Amino acid sequence: MSTALTVYIVAHSVVSDLNNAAGWDKALTRLRSAHADSVVLESYRGGMVVDEAVLRVARDRFNAEGFRTLGGLMPVWGEGFGKRGVGVETQMPFFCYSSEDTVSAIEREIRKLSRLFDQVVIDDAFMTSCRCADCEKARNGQNRGAFRRTLLTKVSERWVRAAHEEKPKVQLTVKFPQTYDRYHLYGYDPERFPAIFDKVWVGTETRNPNTPKFGYTEPYQGYFNSRWMRACAGDKFEGAWIDYIECDKQQFYDQAVTSHLGGATNLTLFCYGDALFTGTLVSRMTAGLPGLRKLSDAAIEPWGVHVIKPATSEGSGDLFIYDDFGMMGIPCVPATRLDKNMRSAIVPAQGMSDPNMGKAIADAIASGGQVIVTHAALAHATDAALLALFGYSPATAATARTIAHAFEVDGKKIELAKPFHVPGTLEPGPTTKTLAWVTCGTWDNLRIPFITVKEHPGGGKAIVWNLGTFGQDAYTIDESLCVPVKSELLTLPAPVIALLRNTALAPLGLAIDAPPRVATYLFAKHAVFVNYTAAPAEVRTTGLGLVPETLTSDRSDPSDKSDRSEFDGTILRLPAGSYAMMDSKPAR
Ligand SMILES: [Zn+2]
Repeated sequence: MSTALTVYIVAHSVVSDLNNAAGWDKALTRLRSAHADSVVLESYRGGMVVDEAVLRVARDRFNAEGFRTLGGLMPVWGEGFGKRGVGVETQMPFFCYSSEDTVSAIEREIRKLSRLFDQVVIDDAFMTSCRCADCEKARNGQNRGAFRRTLLTKVSERWVRAAHEEKPKVQLTVKFPQTYDRYHLYGYDPERFPAIFDKVWVGTETRNPNTPKFGYTEPYQGYFNSRWMRACAGDKFEGAWIDYIECDKQQFYDQAVTSHLGGATNLTLFCYGDALFTGTLVSRMTAGLPGLRKLSDAAIEPWGVHVIKPATSEGSGDLFIYDDFGMMGIPCVPATRLDKNMRSAIVPAQGMSDPNMGKAIADAIASGGQVIVTHAALAHATDAALLALFGYSPATAATARTIAHAFEVDGKKIELAKPFHVPGTLEPGPTTKTLAWVTCGTWDNLRIPFITVKEHPGGGKAIVWNLGTFGQDAYTIDESLCVPVKSELLTLPAPVIALLRNTALAPLGLAIDAPPRVATYLFAKHAVFVNYTAAPAEVRTTGLGLVPETLTSDRSDPSDKSDRSEFDGTILRLPAGSYAMMDSKPAR
C-alpha cells in the first residue's frame, strides 16, 4: 500500500506562521510542493498552549484546501503546565506522571484535540525519569522501569477513555520514540500500549550516523523500528516519522527510503518551517516519490533471517544490535518470539528476557532450524541443558571482555586496522566446530572462538557469535536515549562480515556478497538493495532468482553510465547513496 505523507506543525508554528495571509500562502505552497496529504496541528509543546479557536480556524482552512487534519501534542514540561519530573537521571524535561496536575492538564489538551480532529497523536516524550517523593513512594521498592510502565499504562487508559468520551470515533495515537532498547526504562510499553491506543506510530528519524548528536544511529534502524513495531502492534501500527535534524539531503532521503520499505501507511515529516523547507531536503525526497511509492507497494511479506526482541526486553551487552545486523547486509525479519518453524533466527541478549526462550530454542533446533545466539545471550543461559545445545557448559562459556587484534578464517589470518572488543571467552566441546577465531592478548597468545556451530541430528544448528555492542552503562550525560557508541561491528573486515551474514543465510539457501552498510530487503516478489555508503558498491547474490530486466532504481538515468544502477545477471552495481529493486524468484 502506498504511503501517505503528513507534515507536522508544532504549536509555536501554528501561532506564528499561520497568523497572516503571506504565512498561509507560503505554507500552502510548501505543503503542495511536498505532495503532503495531511497536516498535524499541535496544541501543546513545552508549556505553550494553542487556543481551541485558533486550532479550529487552522483546521477549517486546511480542510478547505484539501488537506486531512490531525491533532498533536508534545508532552514535555514547560512553565505553568503540569509538574516537571524530579532528578538527574536523564536531565530531560519529562513530566512526573504521579502528579494529578500533569495528567489532568494533558487530558484537557487531549479532550480539546479530540473535539477538533478524528485522529490525535501524542509525540514521543511520553516517558518519565522522575524520582520525586510521590513516585518513589508509589514505586514501593519495585524496579523503576516496571513501575513507570505500569504508571504510564494507567495514564494511557485514562486518556483514551477521555478522548473517546469527547468523540467515540477519535483515534488516539501514540508515537513511540526511535529508541527501542531504552523503552522499558522510561515507561513506553510495546506490549500494553498497542492494546490501549487506537493507532501506533514509531520514530524512524535516524539522522547522521557519524555524529554523537542524537546518537550514532545507523539508518537500518528505521526499518527495524517499523517492522518490529508491527510485530508488537499488528494492524494498529500505522505511521513512521522522520525529521530534518542533523541531516544532509542524502541522510534525509535515506530515512525516507528506509521508512517506505518498513511498511508504514503514513510517513510524517517533522516539522513544518524554514529548516525543513529551505534548501533541498524535501525537494530531493519529492523528486524520488514515484520510486519511493514503488518501494512501499513492493514491501509486503518480508522474509529472511528472524531477529528476536520480546516486547519488553533488556539488551545487556547487545543494545541496538539489530541496526548492525541489517547494516551487515542480513535481511532481517523482526519478531517478538522465536517460533519453531523459523528456519534461521538470531537471538541476542534481548531474547533471553522471554522466560520460555530456552524451550523455544530447543524446539527450533529439534525442528531442524538454525538458531544463532550472541555471547551475551549465551551468558544469560543458566540452564545447563541450553548451554549443552550449543556445546558448552557453565565452565566453558564466560564473560571476559577483551580486545582482538586479528581474525582467523579458513586458516587465513586477517589483521585488524582497529581493535575489536570481544565480549567473552569460549571453549567448545568436542563435537562443536569453530568457523572463525580471534587472536588477542598482549602477545597475540590467546586464540578464542568467534563463531562456533554445533550440528544436531535432523539438521538443526546451534551457533554462537562471540560479539556484541554495548550495555546501558555506555550512556552519558549528553546522550540518554539514542545510540551512544559508534558500531564496532561495521568496522570488521569484509570477509568476516560476509562469513557472519552467509552463516545466517545458509538455511534459506541464500548467500550475499556486499560491502558493509549495503542492506538487503527481501519481500514476497521483490528484493531491494540499498547502498547507504558514499562509495559505489558491488553486490553478488546466490539463491534470490533476481530478474535483471525488472531492475528499477533511483539511478537509472541512461545518460550517465558511471552513475547508474546495473545488473548483468551476476554483479549488481549500485552508485553511492542509491537503491535498486528487482523481481526475485527464489527457489524456496
Ligand atoms: Zn514524580
